[in-house]
Amino acid sequence: MNIRTAIKLRFGAFMGCLLALTILAGCSQKENKGATTAGYTPQPVFKFRMVTTWPKNFPGMGVAAENLAKAVDEMSDGRLTITVYGSGEVVPALGVFEAVSLGNVEMGHGAAYYWKGKVPAAQFFTTVPFGMTAQEMNAWLHHGGGMTLWEELYAPYNLVPIAGGNTGVQMAGWFNKEINSIEDIQGLKMRIPGLGGEVFNRVGGSAQTLPGSEIYTSLQMGAVDATEWVGPYNDLAFGLHQVAEYYYYPGWHEPGPTLETIINKEAWDSLPPDLQAILRTASRMINEDSLSEYTARNNDALRELVEEHGVKIRRLPDDVIEALREASREVVSALPGDDELAQRIHRSYSEFHEDVMRYHEISERAYINLRPVD
Ligand code: CA
Repeated sequence: MNIRTAIKLRFGAFMGCLLALTILAGCSQKENKGATTAGYTPQPVFKFRMVTTWPKNFPGMGVAAENLAKAVDEMSDGRLTITVYGSGEVVPALGVFEAVSLGNVEMGHGAAYYWKGKVPAAQFFTTVPFGMTAQEMNAWLHHGGGMTLWEELYAPYNLVPIAGGNTGVQMAGWFNKEINSIEDIQGLKMRIPGLGGEVFNRVGGSAQTLPGSEIYTSLQMGAVDATEWVGPYNDLAFGLHQVAEYYYYPGWHEPGPTLETIINKEAWDSLPPDLQAILRTASRMINEDSLSEYTARNNDALRELVEEHGVKIRRLPDDVIEALREASREVVSALPGDDELAQRIHRSYSEFHEDVMRYHEISERAYINLRPVD
């Protein structure tokens, strides 16, 4: 055998091995496929539409809805796909509850306090003034009986709720003048919706309800003197520092708002148990993840507001906070009226709140007070 023949033979043997390896690899893939498809019944694929109360891809809240859809698609290997629609694309922001309730779409993402006109007690499942923080809300919902009450509250509307996000403690808001005492609140026109707005009226202010899209212009044109929105991350994106100089804390009116994922009951029942579990798990994931996102992004946004835009950060004076606290007690206690379920929700929320505060006095608050401020 000459050297050329030897090389040819060796090359042939190498190619043969390569071919054999390729075939083996191919066979093993096929076998794997064969193994997984043996006795395999094709699984039905579900395509859900999810309407939201947020503009498409709105930082934080809108992104949470997109992340939910992405996680469900990945976890279910495409067996459940969710198409996300921003507010106004299929229904207006405040039409989400009804659209999902009627089954016109399968799912929605928003916040329960938007439905207070239909279901006043729903507000307990987002946030109440001087109420629980994000961490405490999650504890009540998932380990304190809150979730069962929420499910009971939504059952007559053909809806299954799951917690689906949290912004953490919000900011008290933007003011075009300094607030030095409760006198400065008298007659002040502020965009502040929901229970916070009712409380604001009780202490002498004039609460206005405006959609997010109208806040900037209303403040710029002087239609309102002040506005709350969310916190530095969202407020910077809205440019509110361009139309008001003073940025007040703390967000007494929204101390830890929970967002919600709602699913039409028939659509929910049509899903096999594993897809229901995936949907629950994915919503719990965004419930945690959005809070993490806000916690991370608020810091950079606050720095930019102060250092680059000269925003003046102020704490609400003590007498204003005390007046708001007293008015909040009255407004929240009156909320359930004579509705039996609303009364049970109020009792459960209040008892849990008192208990959790007792321990948080000597844990969360005690520790936070230890930290240096600079
Ligand atoms: Ca707010």
